[in-house]
Amino acid sequence: MTQTHVSTLLSTEQIAARVRELGAQITKDYEGRRLVLVSVLKGSFIFTADLCRAIDTHQVRIEFLGVRSYGEGTSTSGVVQITQDLSKPIEGEDVLIVEDIVDTGLTIAHLLELFKTRHPASIKVCSLLHKPARTKIEVPIDYLGFTIEDRFVVGYGLDWAERYRNLPFIGVVEAK
Ligand code: 5GP
Repeated sequence: MTQTHVSTLLSTEQIAARVRELGAQITKDYEGRRLVLVSVLKGSFIFTADLCRAIDTHQVRIEFLGVRSYGEGTSTSGVVQITQDLSKPIEGEDVLIVEDIVDTGLTIAHLLELFKTRHPASIKVCSLLHKPARTKIEVPIDYLGFTIEDRFVVGYGLDWAERYRNLPFIGVVEAK
């Protein structure tokens, strides 16, 4: 079996500092309003857990959306299947979709289309990472953690065949 090693791309401290900044910005922008955070599973569960604690208001509802995108290995096909829907309607609500990474943009584009049919008051996107080199469809990212190069990253919720999600930092898997 090949030995693998994960090299650090974004450290725990770098991520924590950026999440605090995003949380402060969101707190300011949504002042006096209620907010529904929609965490796109599984990849954004750790980011959502940290982000929601950096948002300083009691008016936050957390929802989870299970999504499966069909693709071979490390690439997406753009066909998105909802495996677990929201627990309550979002009609009339201010919705913020929380994603781990926007890669081709196909997943977010699909989710924005889907959610618009449910008539929320507003809908925005917060993504921890963005890989602009792989863009297939331009999507608005209202709150962005980091722009990264075209590398397949793992950790902080992101997996490689369901492994590495529990790494406390974001890294790149390398064969030794
Ligand atoms: P998109 O539809 O924008 O191409 O891809 C979105 C999804 O593909 C992400 O939510 C994530 O699950 C997966 N993905 C894209 N790039 C990476 C990556 O570098 N690492 C991991 N672990 N997943 C990725």
